[in-house]
Amino acid sequence: MEDDIPYYWKSVDWDRFIADYPPPPIYGRTHGRLSSDALYALQEQRFLARVTEAWDVPFYRRRWTEAGLQPGDISKLEHIQRIPSFNSDDLRQAIAAAPPFGDHHPFGREGFHRMPLKLQTSSGTTGMPRATLFDPIAWEAQGVQMARAFYAQGARPGDIVQITYTNSLANAAWNASTALHHWLGCVPVTCGSGVVTSTERQLEYAKAWGVNGWFTRGEYLGRIAEVAAANKFDLRQLKTKYLHSYLGPDIEGHLRRSLEEAWGAPVYDNYGTHEIGLVAFDCTAKTGKHISEDTIFVETVDIDTGESLPLGSRGSFVATSLHRSVPPFIRYDLRDVLVITEREECACGLCTRKMSTFLGRADEMVKLRGTNVFPLACQNAITKDARTTGDFICVAFYVGEGLGRREEMTVRVERRSPDIDGDSLAEDLRRALHKDLGVRVDVEIVEAGSLAEHTRMGREGKVRRLLDLRK
Ligand SMILES: [Zn+2]
Repeated sequence: MEDDIPYYWKSVDWDRFIADYPPPPIYGRTHGRLSSDALYALQEQRFLARVTEAWDVPFYRRRWTEAGLQPGDISKLEHIQRIPSFNSDDLRQAIAAAPPFGDHHPFGREGFHRMPLKLQTSSGTTGMPRATLFDPIAWEAQGVQMARAFYAQGARPGDIVQITYTNSLANAAWNASTALHHWLGCVPVTCGSGVVTSTERQLEYAKAWGVNGWFTRGEYLGRIAEVAAANKFDLRQLKTKYLHSYLGPDIEGHLRRSLEEAWGAPVYDNYGTHEIGLVAFDCTAKTGKHISEDTIFVETVDIDTGESLPLGSRGSFVATSLHRSVPPFIRYDLRDVLVITEREECACGLCTRKMSTFLGRADEMVKLRGTNVFPLACQNAITKDARTTGDFICVAFYVGEGLGRREEMTVRVERRSPDIDGDSLAEDLRRALHKDLGVRVDVEIVEAGSLAEHTRMGREGKVRRLLDLRK
């Protein structure tokens, strides 16, 4: 008997897919500007379909039953808060209990032949990374989410876009490539990170091939600018239209402004996760990031209690994917701290809820004399001081014992050169950090390049900002 191969291009009804998850420019006149009632109805219908599927997934059935829920109890979107949230620790346990993929997936290896699947992992973890499967809908919908972002930032068919993430187990480069290639008519240039293609070569290719858009981490945009300056390469000759990036907690916009100055082009911030896809994106108005609300239902919860918070409050981000069945993600607490704001008509024509600047990781919170501090929140004060390289790491530790034990944090910051007066720089940063964090922290000045082994600046994966000696 012949094998029945699940051909990718026959695995989805593509016309229906485009109607369900419209790519640009259709998105801008359909799901990107629905009335609140129409959007709510669409979200409710998708949410209930995902909940029905999740009852057949052991991970959800077990957790929801333990919480006293039965199938049928969740019959409206407004019931979502009855469902217990989960976080990445719960996914790690699900994998340990049912290796190697975990029982949060709707099927195991025996089902792999039925549809084309792709495997990507979380990044930046020690030990085995956490694998997540993608069916064609999950894969292409995340491509559409990112295509919407690029389009809102000025990408148009025929553009040539350089991707400086590596196509690896991590999802970001694949996602950008799928968005540009499948849903925008742009040409992806898959250079990989500076580890795969040196920064000097990246600049050579960009100039030779007429690259006019970039997909690059904020830290690496700065690194490219440094290398360009050292090689007398004028970045403005590139005619860059847009820089799609991830700026982190750039609260006052210093990082964005310094990068835009160096490149002579607009820098757009975005927020995404490897499992849920590109959740939110800047448009050319740069007044908060648009949320792709037909693909995701967003909430924020109190960091300590898990209680749902009203719009406009700072809290931990809880996401429910409205398009994913393989696997479902329902009330996934991502432990990223941010603010979600009311829907409003934007100058770009979209009408969505928006997401604030990313403020920090709930897991990295340090309690300093009653104030919650996120290491990433130091970025603002440090990047705006031109005497620093911008690279820093927070060291959290305990002092004292027993009831008198308390948490302390020292911020190590690189100065740009040994000629810079370390004492006055440290004093100025102590003052600026006190203002931003609301509590005093100590500052130690170190030499340029000395933190790279801790922060992993210039390497694959996320930059680290916390050295946690409390564990
Ligand atoms: Zn807009």
